[in-house]
Amino acid sequence: MQRIYFNEVVTRDGFQNEPEFVPTDVKVNLIDALSLCGYAKIEVTSFTSAKSIPMLRDAEEVMGRIRRAPGVEYTVLVPNVRGAERAMESKADEFNLVMSTSETHNLSNLRMPRERSFAGLKEVVELANGRVPINVSLSACFGCPMEGEVPQAEVIAWADRFADLGVRGLTICDTTGMAHPDQVSRMCEALRARFPNLQLTLHFHNTRGMGLANVMAAAQQGIDRYDGSLGGLGGCPYAPGASGNISTEDAIHMLQAVGYETGIDLELLLAVARRLPHVVGHEVPGQVAKAGRTLDLHPEPAYVAELRSKFE
Ligand code: ZN
Repeated sequence: MQRIYFNEVVTRDGFQNEPEFVPTDVKVNLIDALSLCGYAKIEVTSFTSAKSIPMLRDAEEVMGRIRRAPGVEYTVLVPNVRGAERAMESKADEFNLVMSTSETHNLSNLRMPRERSFAGLKEVVELANGRVPINVSLSACFGCPMEGEVPQAEVIAWADRFADLGVRGLTICDTTGMAHPDQVSRMCEALRARFPNLQLTLHFHNTRGMGLANVMAAAQQGIDRYDGSLGGLGGCPYAPGASGNISTEDAIHMLQAVGYETGIDLELLLAVARRLPHVVGHEVPGQVAKAGRTLDLHPEPAYVAELRSKFE
């Protein structure tokens, strides 16, 4: 049975798009609950400036207060050297660096050309200097909402440059939900052949309903690491109202159904997922938390017993 590893990103990627501040206590409780569910990693927060993402202004406090479960890596988003110093201070287990493979997407999101981003992130890798493992999340790998399809060769070229810096892992992100399963298959095949020794993670959004189909396509190519967001939280600025990241619990439910070993206690995870709407103050897109698992059976209606005896 193939083992799949999950990285929960709800308190970073998910919360980052929420309009109402989630209190620090609530964040800490949520992460502590998630820590017991069987994740390989949890992306706790982001060490960006409080001004750019007010929701995550309590990064130090959250990192200092969570109860770290053995076997779980607590990773954080690090945008620059300043963030890396703060993350180092907070004893993050991994730095997750982000840049886009599309020039226009990078300019619009990070407000600088890709080469500037790369130079800045290279400094972070040098600062970490092998003391903290580095993961690089490459955004818009399957398409850019302004430029269109991003060629696979472009993605591989950026991946190569980070691999040359000695990073431990790469996350290939479908940031705006433009990937389809065929494209995902081809990308995963190419990545696995080229980077057999890197930790490869896939990050999908369900913006157009293809999120779980894309997970399946990647899993069939042997990809064993995924980002997921509890409840499918995390919007997309280019698709207002659309769903965000794939819902972790829906993805786990699917993968377990087809026979993958995920290490996740789904029942426990669903209990946490059902609390999420109260945490954020609105409904969330995840489906299994609402519908229940496939084999959570319902009691038969009383009239069914009557019909049974009538037709005996
Ligand atoms: Zn995302």
